Amino acid sequence: GVKKKEVNVLVVGLDNSGKSTIINHFKPPELKNHEIVPTVGFNVEKFKSKALAFTALDMSGQGRYRNLWEQYYKECDGIIFVIDSSDKLRMVVAKDELDLLLQHAELKDKRIPILFFANKMDARESVSSVKCSHLMGLETLRDKPWHICASNALTGDGLHEGVDWLTDQLK
Ligand code: GDP
Repeated sequence: GVKKKEVNVLVVGLDNSGKSTIINHFKPPELKNHEIVPTVGFNVEKFKSKALAFTALDMSGQGRYRNLWEQYYKECDGIIFVIDSSDKLRMVVAKDELDLLLQHAELKDKRIPILFFANKMDARESVSSVKCSHLMGLETLRDKPWHICASNALTGDGLHEGVDWLTDQLK
């Protein structure tokens, strides 16, 4: 058969945005809720699903480990940026993190696709994906293909649609 090429997807976003819940959806059953907490001092989860290798990183409160993220930036083919659409207050922080990510030397000249999940769309206080992309300043993001999907990681709504877009971009 045709060998599928493996691609590295980096899942980033602030803590509590829903990264673990999202990647849990794509985990094979035997790995569900099995978290690997390494000794380096920041949470990173890694697993493979079909042709995708997911790595999740928390971006908040761990600034001192920033230099360690570089290796993940170097290896990644695509990014999933998870936004808590119900946390308008911290969306400015998420935007700052996104800007730092986009300016990073390892990423700024790469045309890697970025999928945004406007997660927690079920929450009462959540804003629409359009509002979310506005608050995150995505209209100025021109040199990389990007897409935003509203999602509910608890039910899985929107997750496959988003990841299908990303997978298409990576072909
Ligand atoms: P992480 O820190 O980014 O990995 O976030 P988690 O996946 O641990 O999720 C943080 C909290 O938000 C948990 O209590 C989840 O159950 C909850 N959560 C995640 N996704 C959703 C969602 O789409 N809707 C709602 N209502 N809660 C969610």
